[in-house]
Amino acid sequence: MITVSIDGPAGSGKSTTARLVAEQLGFLYIDTGAMYRAATLLVLSLGVLPQDEKAVVEVVSESNIKLVHSEEKLKVLLNTKDVTKDIRLPKVTQFVSLISSYSGVREHLVALQREIAKNNNVVCEGRDIGTIVFSNADVKVYIDCSLEERAKRRLLDLKRTNVRTTLEEVKQDLELRDKLDSERKNSPLRIPNGAEIIDTTNLTIEEQVKRVLDLVYSLKKV
Ligand code: C5P
Repeated sequence: MITVSIDGPAGSGKSTTARLVAEQLGFLYIDTGAMYRAATLLVLSLGVLPQDEKAVVEVVSESNIKLVHSEEKLKVLLNTKDVTKDIRLPKVTQFVSLISSYSGVREHLVALQREIAKNNNVVCEGRDIGTIVFSNADVKVYIDCSLEERAKRRLLDLKRTNVRTTLEEVKQDLELRDKLDSERKNSPLRIPNGAEIIDTTNLTIEEQVKRVLDLVYSLKKV
């Protein structure tokens, strides 16, 4: 089985790149951020206090979070309910870094991620994929991008989904999440050993995808 890991900060273009690379290769795309978002949505919808680590870990451990690949779309199911849209709500974004900092939450979701990769070639993206989840990945990529460019891209995405916000607000949100994600004790965002760093600030999507595909094609087993 072949594993491609893609890590990087919020809004760097890793989801789009990972999805398109997976599509081209016929590999499964694993969006781990979507899984942490589904866990956060569950906590909020049950009225559990996000700061109550024990209660959070308990509900997340009993949850059933699934990524379902239907046609070209990736659907996120939480206890069989389609939550693909709801996990992008600003409220979820606000609390996801706190919820994902709990080791009990991470253990549960990392186990699911490893289970998927057992029998599938995968392109998996997140924050700790090349460092922790698949530290032996065949190809490791770290995608970076300037804060200004990431904020612009994210604002466009949010406008498409009718979320009203400003460039300044988006920038602040990205900066805060980067800080929380890279300074946390459990599985912080880091450049994995042996990762190829791709700065996407001045790259088109096609160029980013090609850079990753070239790395995969250079493997002897592909
Ligand atoms: O990728 P996305 O921005 O949707 O991820 C949302 C949040 O989920 C991140 O800001 C981070 O707090 C958390 N996350 C994580 N580990 C991953 C993927 C996402 O902690 N592997």
